Amino acid sequence: MNKYFPAAMAVLSIFASCKNEPAKQDTATGTQDTVMVKDLHTQSNADSVLMKHLDLDIAVNFDARQISGKAVWDIDNKQMVSTLRLDTYDLTIDSVTADGKKVQHTLGAFVDHLGNALSIPVEAGTKQVAIYYHTGKNARALQWLDPQQTAGKKHPFLYTQSESIYARSWIPCADGPGIRYTYTARVTVPKGLLALMSAENPQQVNDSGIYHFNMDIPVPAYLMALAVGDIAFKPIDERTGVYAETNMIDKARYEFEDVGRMVQTAEKLYGPYRWGRYDALVLPPGFPIGGMENPKLTFCTPTIIAGDRSLMNLVAHELAHNWSGNLVTNATWNDFWLNEGFTVYFERRLTEAMTDKSYADMLWELGYQDLEKAMDELGKDSKDTHLKLDLTGRDPDDGLTDIAYEKGALFLKLIENNVGRERIDAFLKKYFDEHAFKTITTEQFLTYLNDNLIKGDSALAKKLDINAWVYGPGIPANAPHADRARFSKVDEVRQAFLDGKPAKELQTTNWSTYEWLHFLRKMPKTLDATKMKELDAAFHFTTSGNSEIADQWYVMSVTADYKAAYPAMDQFLSRVGRRKFLEPLYTEMMKTGKQDMARSIYEKYRMNYHPLAQESIDEIVAKK
Ligand SMILES: [Zn+2]
Repeated sequence: MNKYFPAAMAVLSIFASCKNEPAKQDTATGTQDTVMVKDLHTQSNADSVLMKHLDLDIAVNFDARQISGKAVWDIDNKQMVSTLRLDTYDLTIDSVTADGKKVQHTLGAFVDHLGNALSIPVEAGTKQVAIYYHTGKNARALQWLDPQQTAGKKHPFLYTQSESIYARSWIPCADGPGIRYTYTARVTVPKGLLALMSAENPQQVNDSGIYHFNMDIPVPAYLMALAVGDIAFKPIDERTGVYAETNMIDKARYEFEDVGRMVQTAEKLYGPYRWGRYDALVLPPGFPIGGMENPKLTFCTPTIIAGDRSLMNLVAHELAHNWSGNLVTNATWNDFWLNEGFTVYFERRLTEAMTDKSYADMLWELGYQDLEKAMDELGKDSKDTHLKLDLTGRDPDDGLTDIAYEKGALFLKLIENNVGRERIDAFLKKYFDEHAFKTITTEQFLTYLNDNLIKGDSALAKKLDINAWVYGPGIPANAPHADRARFSKVDEVRQAFLDGKPAKELQTTNWSTYEWLHFLRKMPKTLDATKMKELDAAFHFTTSGNSEIADQWYVMSVTADYKAAYPAMDQFLSRVGRRKFLEPLYTEMMKTGKQDMARSIYEKYRMNYHPLAQESIDEIVAKK
């Protein structure tokens, strides 16, 4: 998943955590061949019952905003327990059969974040359970869009976001990252619409409205995905392509031109891409995050369509997840940095290989700024700034901070700086290869690192100071910095402007998105309205088509009360659903005495946002 900034959520969760005790103390997860690891975010007993294969048969009803059907699980009751326990969240269970015979299921009490455990009586030899069910109004994974909320405005759209623990709100399942299974699906949708999943996908609409899917590589539940809408496809090369709403497909195809080459470059770095096709789906504007690494089909925000391919490092990130995350998976959400830190490192290496070092260095530096901001927000001594997290009794989304992403990536960068590229690349390639389709804990990774890279070199171990990174707070003293050559030039230009040089005379030729971002981010906290006006006249930030730059500019406009940007900001907030952009803007309005403005804009556009974005913005605008 691409990073976003849930700092406000992280603070709230501290309050939320007081009242949430997981119902079961004996919950655990396990896969075919990995050791059992306690995962407190599933109430399933997949450590006792092997979940082998899921066959879904579901119908998507836009009028009722409901998914209904059956989930058939092939199981191996290896420990001969009398009950199979699965996760559900706001699901209605209509009936359950075990090997074709109806059985009496029970739903446990609702547990905050986790939902209701579904208990199904099974026998030692039970091979298959079938659960007939439908989704509820509070299905956190689902966003149902009315036609007017799509780019095309003519047809409704549905998509899912299952990470971290939302798959259980649309499929009864054992919902932990350490539990993998294969799946097949039959999905019925209104005629004229296309359905896609994290599986082998159709490339065009058929007449029946019934689509069949097959995923023969075992995946965890958080990688279950579905999208339904007026969607078209265009190929990029023989194994890559892009899907988007029909009226967006040409723009998307243009933006994704380099993706085929990107997959080849990633393979050169860290070994073969093992998932067959690599396609991407550009979602309607309400998608709450940057991207989601659903296997075979990355879901991504339309805000990366900048018209100039300048924001494609987001795709590099999601592609990299096909090694770190999808192939080698964090065992629990406490080990989330193993998914995201590795992916950010891989993403930057991939971006460097696709562009040049100075370009990737800018991303490292902006990432460092993000990390410092996260440290400020979380508190430098907070346990939430450790790489290894403790999310017991909390929503795993609380762990989605820049700590996992940027501190995690920086730790790998530190190793690279100490052992050299050749050694870290050989190490990572071997790591991906030897842990392919397995899950891994932080402790298992550290053992592997010791055995395969450090190898008793105590001087190296001392230089790395691993404990400080993994089990300690803040940014460790040995944190590396990227080369700042390009940003130093930007600093000089900014200073010249602040010293009185007219904006239109500044030397900004050939600046990339990242130079512009750095230019704006490091402006004084409150720039006076005259300076804002001068910058806008010279560089047209208010009307920028680049969402990263526009968002930064609107935050500055709110701080400076630069009203000329407000109509465009209002429009931006109506069409963008990505939390990374929404949260800082609403937060800044609330912080600077513009609560009425924040609330009235939010009231207008709340329905355009995904339920997860609504949850976080609800909290932001409710503050005094
Ligand atoms: Zn990610």
